[in-house]
Amino acid sequence: MSDNVISYIDMCQREGTSLQAGMNFGLGGNHSVILMSLRANAPYRDRLEDGGTTLIYEGHDQPKGAHCPNPKVVDQADRYPSGSLMQNGKFFGAAQQFKTGRREPERVRVYEKIRTGIWSYNGVFHLVDSWQEKDDFRTVFKFKLVAVEGDEDFAVPPLRNVQRRRVIPSSVKLAVWKRDGGKCTICGAKDELHFDHDLPWSKGGTSITEENVQLLCARHNLEKRDRIV
Ligand SMILES: [Zn+2]
Repeated sequence: MSDNVISYIDMCQREGTSLQAGMNFGLGGNHSVILMSLRANAPYRDRLEDGGTTLIYEGHDQPKGAHCPNPKVVDQADRYPSGSLMQNGKFFGAAQQFKTGRREPERVRVYEKIRTGIWSYNGVFHLVDSWQEKDDFRTVFKFKLVAVEGDEDFAVPPLRNVQRRRVIPSSVKLAVWKRDGGKCTICGAKDELHFDHDLPWSKGGTSITEENVQLLCARHNLEKRDRIV
């Protein structure tokens, strides 16, 4: 289930690792994890396109160090000086292999920082493309990921002809969080919260605005889903 609020500790526990880096390829050998942020002060230019069904994710800079005092002014890299692949290189290779039919799409769980202390699980995406482009004065990596309905079981191969899913925009999530006071609008519970769209897009829901999204706890969200299904 996606669009649920999750704490950083729960994210790390679920992924079985301390999520220090924004890009984490091949966790457990069957999926990857990326952390995104659309906040104005975010370090990278991630963006949602195609009505919120597509994420264009920016690659990450070289680590800051003696040979690289200001990573923002040098080209992003795909390999370490030793020749081994950096995260950019791993994601890039997987996307190119998918594009040329040599592998299934890499499944990527996406977590989004809404504001300090509040993260949202944005669900599973398929990594479908990658390229390099000129930023103002340097070269950066870009990755294209599409949000898919379901496909959460990593023990089985990725779903084919999978339905696209729409992510609730960050600005809407933040506004709803504030309006509903960070608790379930039915019972006031403050844990296991979910951003609930009044009618799922796949069932004909209209555009996602603050007015048709509400915070629900896991129990009330499930009850509502059962009614719709
Ligand atoms: Zn509730």
